[in-house]
Amino acid sequence: MQLANLSWPAVHALSKDTPIIFPVAALEQHGGHMPLFTDSLLLGEIVRRAAERLGDRVVWAPLMWLGNSDHHLDFPGTLSAAPRAYLDLLNGLAENFIQHGFKRLVFINGHGGNDVPGKQAVFEVRQRHRDRNDVLLLFATYWSLGGEPWKRDSYIQQREMGHACEWETSMILRLNPKLVGETSKLKTVEFGTGFAPASRGWITKDRTAPGHIGSPEFASAEKGETLFATFTDDVVRLIERVIVWDGKSWNG
Ligand SMILES: [Zn+2]
Repeated sequence: MQLANLSWPAVHALSKDTPIIFPVAALEQHGGHMPLFTDSLLLGEIVRRAAERLGDRVVWAPLMWLGNSDHHLDFPGTLSAAPRAYLDLLNGLAENFIQHGFKRLVFINGHGGNDVPGKQAVFEVRQRHRDRNDVLLLFATYWSLGGEPWKRDSYIQQREMGHACEWETSMILRLNPKLVGETSKLKTVEFGTGFAPASRGWITKDRTAPGHIGSPEFASAEKGETLFATFTDDVVRLIERVIVWDGKSWNG
């Protein structure tokens, strides 16, 4: 079900155990060869495919295209909700649906910069409702759900998500090749180690001049289909776990 298409009495009549899914993405630079709306287009496609498979068992909020992209602001066109504003935004969305009586709230994320504030937001919401024992608050990034697309297509080079990389470029090629510029002359920008396992504060231009990180020169629409299929399977599997959660257990 699409929240945008429902009336308020229809929402009121739903079982309050219906999972509410908030897709969250971004509008930010994606290298010299890809559109600013890349993250929102990619997550939108995964959500479209997942919604077809899950039917009336869940409610999908409209995709929130504004993300936390402050680290990309050196590249023109990027729009960002600053980290603390973004925290408040996600807190507010969750609080709205807790007020409406719903108990299973899931953020499905399609942008790396949303990861830290997203996890912080669900943590904060839980603290405010500590008298409750029936709420499930999840934040999940679609490429971090265990999928190993290189096992489905051995031509896939990368082993992790980059930025405007082999993976993202392949998926946009699958969606709409007209949106992708010349890739054959692009050069891999290595992920590097960045003082790992420490977590380093960074801005994008610390790591890349053209704006991409990873290997867009290896992108293809065929790989893009494999990536979409892998990530959609992962998202559907997670949401099915939310649907069958018993309403109180830690595990699920
Ligand atoms: Zn991206």
